[in-house]
Amino acid sequence: MIRSDRCPIKRKSSKFMTRSGIPTSDPDMDLVLKVADHYVFTPYVYPSSWPEEGALRQIITLLVVTNLGAAVLYLGLGWLSYQFIFDHNLMKHPQFLKNQVWREIKYAMTSLPIISIPTVALFFFEVRGYSKLYDNVEESTMGWSFVLFSMISFLLFTDGCIYWIHRFLHHKRIYKNFHKPHHVWKIPTPFASHAFHPLDGFLQGLPYHIYPFLFPLHKVLYLALYIFVNVWTVSIHDGDYRVPGPLQEVVNGAAHHTDHHLFFDVNYGQYFTLWDRIGGSYRNPSVFEGNGPLDCIHRLMAEGKIICNETNANPNLNANGKGTKSKEE
Ligand SMILES: [Zn+2]
Ligand SMILES: [Zn+2]
Repeated sequence: MIRSDRCPIKRKSSKFMTRSGIPTSDPDMDLVLKVADHYVFTPYVYPSSWPEEGALRQIITLLVVTNLGAAVLYLGLGWLSYQFIFDHNLMKHPQFLKNQVWREIKYAMTSLPIISIPTVALFFFEVRGYSKLYDNVEESTMGWSFVLFSMISFLLFTDGCIYWIHRFLHHKRIYKNFHKPHHVWKIPTPFASHAFHPLDGFLQGLPYHIYPFLFPLHKVLYLALYIFVNVWTVSIHDGDYRVPGPLQEVVNGAAHHTDHHLFFDVNYGQYFTLWDRIGGSYRNPSVFEGNGPLDCIHRLMAEGKIICNETNANPNLNANGKGTKSKEE
């Protein structure tokens, strides 16, 4: 809870600071923690002798809430996308793996609890008031316009950070142990969205958690952005390659990210193509050039190499059906 004269947020800090200047937990008690304590943990779980502000109690609650939230978001959004958006024809692609959906789910559900440990450490510092999260729009001298500004700034900040973290994860000394598990899925399904090695998943999520320690951010907006980020991560793995015309140049959608899975060292971006263009890693999605995974499937079906209800027809063929390999191998 650092107060800066240049900070546009009018903090009510003095009211909540101890004499030593160390903030108490109450004012910045995380919204979710408050709700969970009020409706579940205080009346039904913890003994009344254990105060809500107890550090150990807060850490345990955060671990439970974070793990439940991550599982519900991942499985819920993944399932909705898999049922209603994902084109199941993609499972006929030669590079779609045997039992891939279950393997993706198993990998993600093993990693998410491990990722939650360092994540909860950061949430704990947020809850304890060390971040610049604020409760009321009126606390900002710029009101709603600052809320709108922070939304854009959050997306630009995290987009840039994730691009460079992702490129770092592709470094030859790092890639094999930490990022390769996410590239096992050449034709990802929505369930590949969170299927990362724990360190990979934590590092790529880190910019979201660092932002509110560096810049003021409204708590409800933070929660909304956190959900949006999860929706977006699922959406770039959902095989729905459509992007509205003029946005195709700017937005990094499933078409772009599919090429990242297929061709390894292109389209590292998260929301926008900006950093790929600056960093020289932009590739016009093969989907937009009539050479995407579905085009490959249609071609192979026409050639009689895949029959209608068959999946994983020829594991030696690549997206072009020519049997060449991506650069990583
Ligand atoms: Zn990658
Ligand atoms: Zn991916």
